[in-house]
Amino acid sequence: MNINLQQLIQWRREFHRFPETGWSEFWTTSKIADYLEEMGFEILLGQQIINPDFVRGRNLTIVEQGLANAQAYGANSQWLERMNGYTGCVAVFDSGKPGKTIAFRFDIDCVNVTESVAATHRPHQEGFSSINPGFMHACGHDGHITIGLGTAQWIMQNKDKLRGKIKLVFQPAEEGVRGAAAIAASGILDDVDYFAGSHLSFCASSGTIISNPKNFLSTTKVDIRYQGKPAHAGAAPHLGRHAVLAAAHAVTQLHGISRHGEGMTRINVGVLRAGEGRNVIPTSAEIQLEVRGENKAINDYMYQQVLQIAKGVALSFDVEYETEIMGEAVDMINDPEMIALVEDIANQLPQIQVGNAEYPFNASEDATILGRRVQDNGGKSIYFIIGANRTAEHHQAEFDFDESQLVTGVQIYTSLVQKLLA
Ligand SMILES: [Zn+2]
Repeated sequence: MNINLQQLIQWRREFHRFPETGWSEFWTTSKIADYLEEMGFEILLGQQIINPDFVRGRNLTIVEQGLANAQAYGANSQWLERMNGYTGCVAVFDSGKPGKTIAFRFDIDCVNVTESVAATHRPHQEGFSSINPGFMHACGHDGHITIGLGTAQWIMQNKDKLRGKIKLVFQPAEEGVRGAAAIAASGILDDVDYFAGSHLSFCASSGTIISNPKNFLSTTKVDIRYQGKPAHAGAAPHLGRHAVLAAAHAVTQLHGISRHGEGMTRINVGVLRAGEGRNVIPTSAEIQLEVRGENKAINDYMYQQVLQIAKGVALSFDVEYETEIMGEAVDMINDPEMIALVEDIANQLPQIQVGNAEYPFNASEDATILGRRVQDNGGKSIYFIIGANRTAEHHQAEFDFDESQLVTGVQIYTSLVQKLLA
C-alpha cells in the first residue's frame, strides 16, 4: 500500500494553521470539500447532513465570526452557500456495484487554547502554528482530518476494486460533544452497515492501537436560565422575583441528586452567572452544568432529575425558566466483529502492536451517538485509539503529535475498506 507521508504532513500542517472552534469551521469545511470534490467524491453539506433541531451548543456570534474569517481567508463561496450556516461535510463514494455501506467519522474542530510560541514547539519553529489567536488544534483533530483525506485519496485510487458505498463524515463541534446529535438525526447514517471512528494519541504511544477502549460515559450538558422580576431591594423587595436565590437553590439541590444504584453517575455545575446590581432584586441567572452516567439509562435518570429540580425551583421562587441541551454523548460498546477486524489489520502491520486492548476511556466522545445510531439500525460500530507520541497533554498550548502515525491511521481505515468492500 502506497501512502505518501509527505502529503499527509502537508495537509495536517495546513489545517493546523487555520484552527476553528465548534460550529465555526467554515474555512476548514470548505477546504475539505475542495480536496474531496477534486478527488471525485459527491459532497453533502448543510441540512443534507445536519438536522437543525438537534444542533447543540451553537453560538451565533461565533458562527458569524467564523464565516467572516473564512471569507477573508478565501474559502470557496459555492461551499459556504451550500453550508447554509452549518459546518461539516459528508463525502460519498458509490461504486455502483452491490455491497455494504460503510461510514468513517473524522472530527474537524479545534480547542480554545492559545498556541505556544516556545522555541521548542515545532509548529512555531517550523512556521505552521495557528493564525487564529486563542484557537489551536491542540487535540489532534487536524490529524483526524488528514487521516480522512488520506483514506479518501486511497479510495479513489482503488475505486475500481471496490463494491458498495462509503460515507466519509467530517463532523463539526466534537469539543463539548455538540456536533454528532445533529448529524445522526439527519438520517445520513441510517443505511450504514459498518461504522468506525477513532482518536489520535490519548492513552497510546506511537506504534500501538487500542482496539477496544471501554467506559465511554453517557453525558448531557445542560444550561438552565432563570428569569425573575426587578424591584427596589429596600423599598419593595416583595415586588421582585429573585433569580439569584432560585439559581442558588438549584445549584445545591442539583449536587444533591441521589446516586443511582445500578452504576456510576456524575454531576458538575461549572458556571453560575447571575444578577445585575447590589441594590436590585436580580432578574437573570444562568447555570451551566453537566451530568454523566455509566450508560444511557443512568445518564437519562440524572438528566430527568435536573429537569425536575429546574422546574421545582422555578415554581417555589415564582420565576420563569428554560433549559437547553448544549451537548450530549452516549456510551457505546464496540462490536466484537469490528474489534477483530481492527486487530487483524494491526497484526498485519509490522510496525503496529495492539496495546492494552481494553483501556478504560472514562471520558465522553460524541462519535458514540453516530456509532449507536448505526447499531440501533442493525449495523456494527467501533471506536478505537491510534497511538501517537505527543509533546504535551491534549488541550495544552505545547500539544503536538508524532506525524508519522498519520500513515498508521490511513492504513487502518483503508484496510477496513478493503476487508469490507473489496
Ligand atoms: Zn479530541
